[in-house]
Amino acid sequence: MRALRICDCLAPGAAGRLASLGVAAFLAAASGLAPAVADPVKPPLPEKAPKEPAAAKDLFGAENRPANLASRSIGFYSKGCLAGAKELPIDGPNWQAMRLSRNRNWGHPRLIRLVEKLARDAAEKDGWPGLLVGDLAQPRGGPMTSGHASHQVGLDVDVWLNPMPDRRYSYEEREKVSAVSMLKDTLSVDPNIFTPEHVKLIKRAASYREVDRVGVNPAIKLALCRAEGGDKPWLKKVQMWPGHHYHMHIRIKCPPDSAGCKGQSPPTNTSCAAAEKWYRDTKAYLERPKKPKPPEVAKREKPEKPKRQVMLSELPKACRAVLAAAPAGTPPLRDIVTPSRKPDNRADASGAAAAAPAARPQAAPSHQ
Ligand SMILES: [Zn+2]
Repeated sequence: MRALRICDCLAPGAAGRLASLGVAAFLAAASGLAPAVADPVKPPLPEKAPKEPAAAKDLFGAENRPANLASRSIGFYSKGCLAGAKELPIDGPNWQAMRLSRNRNWGHPRLIRLVEKLARDAAEKDGWPGLLVGDLAQPRGGPMTSGHASHQVGLDVDVWLNPMPDRRYSYEEREKVSAVSMLKDTLSVDPNIFTPEHVKLIKRAASYREVDRVGVNPAIKLALCRAEGGDKPWLKKVQMWPGHHYHMHIRIKCPPDSAGCKGQSPPTNTSCAAAEKWYRDTKAYLERPKKPKPPEVAKREKPEKPKRQVMLSELPKACRAVLAAAPAGTPPLRDIVTPSRKPDNRADASGAAAAAPAARPQAAPSHQ
């Protein structure tokens, strides 16, 4: 299958910032004062106006709100779109959504339910402190301007492999805190970071019937195989994907309500023997005798080919209707109260946010 890229990069110094913010919040909580960190409310989204003919990623990336249609995943995971998306609340009893500025916490209602169920089961049955949830899909799915080949039909979610802290992250922290790599080196997980609780969490995710597959780094797959003592039915759903050492990628099956959703053939190459083979081959490659470097020859500079863009016409036809549909829910606050019309005595967006921490400027959409 196609390699699926990830997009969460480590921000240099993020760990240090997190530690200092953590201490500040702890001290504030202990002293009974309001926490010093800002509340994680999604800010109004910037205006985007793609020009026609635009690449599909620009058209879908410009949509702030879901299409007011019945929920339906249309097309294939890496070539499609999403009607009637539901939003994953940015906070739940056992999860926090990260990278809120991307506005990618949308999915088919089945995916939202899956995330909520995994968060609850992992906390109640496996002792996992809670999920940090990365990207799901854009409000109308479709290709993204950055980061992923898939996540287009609202059936994919990235779940970070570091557990949720026992406090609520601020908006800033959700932008900057880095996911933690599970690897010690290319070949193996770090046993100080990757624990039996991680095995339970990934097993829990892979064991749900609606889950089609889970993508993790080959070294993580190998660690799972060794922890389980060899092949197990749930491990058949866990595939070796490059990257994916900061998060696992959970993909669910096409929902029954989604005519035009294209499923994927069952995962292959998922035996523990395949993981051991990956280990041997990669080790041999890394330890191969290095050839002496040939003398430098001046290379003629080749102009870089621009990447071909996927156009709207290449997506399923129904995706046009998804783009054209009226938006569900109320518009972002920016569109309701423009600064020129705003009464002076009314709290602005940040003031309102401070007064009601759990609310967000875009009122909760009323779609089903
Ligand atoms: Zn992913």
